[in-house]
Amino acid sequence: MATKEKVRIDINLDWCKGCGICIAFCPTKVFDVSADNKPLVARPEDCIQCMLCEIRCPDLAINVGGGTDGEK
Ligand code: SF4
Ligand code: SF4
Repeated sequence: MATKEKVRIDINLDWCKGCGICIAFCPTKVFDVSADNKPLVARPEDCIQCMLCEIRCPDLAINVGGGTDGEK
């Protein structure tokens, strides 16, 4: 039995405008929707790292896997 690895998904809620694109495109429904229509990382263990949310976010508010902007 394989244990699912939790993928790190960082969302900059100050940059997010709540357009809902990431929530709509995520194939495995990792996100829940907050009261102000912003994504909540509810099921990170279901993330398949397709990067659609990161690529599609018009405000570059999502970073999947901790890459591109360096490790913190
Ligand atoms: S990388 Fe893909 S599977 Fe993971 S949260 Fe983003 S859209 Fe969903
Ligand atoms: S796609 Fe980006 S701006 Fe739109 S809801 Fe998701 S994180 Fe926010």
